[in-house]
Amino acid sequence: MSKVVFLEELCKGCLLCTQVCSKKIITQSSRFNKQGYKVVEIKPEDLEKCIACGFCSLVCPDSAIVVYKSVEEKEPENV
Ligand code: SF4
Ligand code: SF4
Repeated sequence: MSKVVFLEELCKGCLLCTQVCSKKIITQSSRFNKQGYKVVEIKPEDLEKCIACGFCSLVCPDSAIVVYKSVEEKEPENV
């Protein structure tokens, strides 16, 4: 399963990631980070909708998003 991690203390709350998300699953949360910016989140029920496209990570001006793409396991080849 793919995973998106928000480094909340780096987020400036610009919401660019919410606009480019292919699945529109990134939303503004009600939490503020230590710098006073309202951070974004993906609701637990939406996590599995992420297709790991990486657009959110690419567009974030503060490098506050890391996308982990799961690697599909292959059947061992016959030798
Ligand atoms: S990796 Fe793609 S689908 Fe997943 S949260 Fe980021 S923009 Fe949305
Ligand atoms: S693009 Fe980056 S800085 Fe802007 S709201 Fe999203 S995570 Fe925060």
